[in-house]
Amino acid sequence: MPTSLLWFRRDLRLHDHPALLAARDAAGPDGDVVPVFVLDERLWGPSGEPRRRFLLGCLAALDADLDGALVLRSGAPARVIPQLAREVGATTVHVSADAGPYGRRRDDAVERALDDVPLVRTGSPYLVTPGRVTTRTGTPFQVFSPFARAWREHGWRAPAGPPDGVRWRTGVRSEEPPPAPEVAADLPPAGEQAARTAWARFRDERLPAYAEGRDLPGTAGTSRLSAYLKYGCIHPRTLAADLAGERSEAARRYTDELAWRDFYADVLWHRPESAREYLKPELRGMGYDSGPDAEALVRAWETGRTGFPIVDAGMRQLLGEAYVHNRVRMIVASFLVKDLHQEWTRGARFFMRHLVDGDLASNQHGWQWVAGTGTDASPYYRVFNPITQGKKFDPEGAYVKQWVPELRDLDPKHVHEPWTAPGGLPTGYPEPIVDHAHERRVALDRYARVRAG
Ligand SMILES: Cc1cc2nc3c(=O)[nH]c(=O)nc-3n(C[C@H](O)[C@H](O)[C@H](O)COP(=O)(O)OP(=O)(O)OC[C@H]3O[C@@H](n4cnc5c(N)ncnc54)[C@H](O)[C@@H]3O)c2cc1C
Repeated sequence: MPTSLLWFRRDLRLHDHPALLAARDAAGPDGDVVPVFVLDERLWGPSGEPRRRFLLGCLAALDADLDGALVLRSGAPARVIPQLAREVGATTVHVSADAGPYGRRRDDAVERALDDVPLVRTGSPYLVTPGRVTTRTGTPFQVFSPFARAWREHGWRAPAGPPDGVRWRTGVRSEEPPPAPEVAADLPPAGEQAARTAWARFRDERLPAYAEGRDLPGTAGTSRLSAYLKYGCIHPRTLAADLAGERSEAARRYTDELAWRDFYADVLWHRPESAREYLKPELRGMGYDSGPDAEALVRAWETGRTGFPIVDAGMRQLLGEAYVHNRVRMIVASFLVKDLHQEWTRGARFFMRHLVDGDLASNQHGWQWVAGTGTDASPYYRVFNPITQGKKFDPEGAYVKQWVPELRDLDPKHVHEPWTAPGGLPTGYPEPIVDHAHERRVALDRYARVRAG
């Protein structure tokens, strides 16, 4: 009986899953499909606890959707996958292509180790597979706007058909999943069904106001789908297909955000080293702060005690929900790099440890964008002012008050500058740890020096 192996990775769903359909078709009407997930220490080890817990939740949901057929194995995929393929007599192994630096190396290694069993890559976690959109001369795009134009012109396929007619093999030996780590953060419900419900709710209730609401962290203005997209509980094509008939500004803006996701994956695909290294290497020599005083400031940032309310609210949201609103990610990242003079890599590591949606491409390039070392077209001199940003995007102080209870009783006009409150700084809330105007000048001076060579 023909058997194919479907190796799930960042595609933990059954619908809109081209590789799943390819596995079914390869097995044919009389064959069956063995679904497997490999717990790979190289990815599991560096994941923070929120992501580990969420991933285990997604695997449990997928297993339930497969009526218990999901096979879990742990170890190096280049050993585990060929071994399982032999064990179940698989003649093909199917995956959704991985565009990340480690995933590409891993898949090449698995392909070699599989020998005469083909590894078939069908589809990817993106609307347009990374590497496909290029300039007219075939070079990669360096900046978002022209990429997004070419990306829209390129277009994408309709969602894949329903997962009908698959015979999932049951009874293959599976390991017990490791215990889910206890996390303090309040995580979203895991799995495909939860993702589809979250999308439907957003589309029906919040999408109409997305264009204005997406920048206001004090409102539920965004879709909160990032963790689901990261683990492939839903495919962005499913979302784009739902938006296809909409001519609204909101639908255009939402598609633009999916374009950012594709853009960063594309940049990482072309420049895999940019996961760790500066996209603009000349900025590595900026001069960064170190020593016990600098460490104490970083600690204040990590724990949400900088004395700048919007920064503290953001960092407390990170610890409280393993998530931060996009506008606030930019503000807290700018603060670490430009007010505390730390390398973006340090903040990116901290985010990856604590975010439930931590994604190498979006996170590293989100940080590089803010630090001015990446793809931003108007780079280093963009220094976010945490007070004016707070006033503009959280005018009533709703976001700050949600995450910083010490400031809950303040009048909105004092929330972002609590030291101006009539009764003075509320008890328990710290003084600003730095003078923003001064640190801004320091950052810009260092930038001017490195540019002058
Ligand atoms: C410093 C920094 C770090 C970031 N780290 C991550 C990360 O690790 N993982 C991650 O998914 N996003 C990251 N982002 C991008 C963005 O902040 C989140 O995708 C977004 O806040 C998720 O919330 P949402 O799903 O409600 O977004 P929505 O506004 O509803 O957007 C829909 C989807 O579009 C994608 N998207 C939106 N904005 C961006 C963006 N700027 N870049 C790339 N994709 C985007 C996401 O997949 C998101 O789920 C980072 C941004 C910055 C500035």
